[in-house]
Amino acid sequence: MTDASSNCLFCRILRGEIPAKKVYEDDHVFAFEDINPKAPTHVLVIPKKHFAGLKEAQADDADVIGRCHLAAAEIARQRNIEQGYRTVINVGPGAGQSVFHLHVHLLGGREMKWPAG
Ligand code: 5GP
Ligand code: ZN
Repeated sequence: MTDASSNCLFCRILRGEIPAKKVYEDDHVFAFEDINPKAPTHVLVIPKKHFAGLKEAQADDADVIGRCHLAAAEIARQRNIEQGYRTVINVGPGAGQSVFHLHVHLLGGREMKWPAG
């Protein structure tokens, strides 16, 4: 394999090459616990299709980006954190993006300050 997914950390998690604590999976989306949680709930929701981030997304990716958010909402519902949670996509290194496979952070279970910083 020589495409972008071969060395991508999150593609490797998807393929089971690196262990992760799975939270949710369907045909399009996979979710797992963040290894360095910033809140009592910190789940990463990723499309099964590899693309680097929101900047790189194409019109074809709209459906799966929406699905990632709907999966986050369902996980929040199941965890009873609907009083207040946040979904975040960090876009680019200047915003803290460190893994270049699009992911939605689901953060909750504590007071969520605004602005995020
Ligand atoms: P970013 O900084 O790109 O928005 O988010 C990347 C997230 O991936 C970070 O919150 C970081 O803690 C998480 N992360 C990095 N490496 C791993 C890993 O090997 N396993 C898991 N479960 N999360 C990871
Ligand atoms: Zn990937």
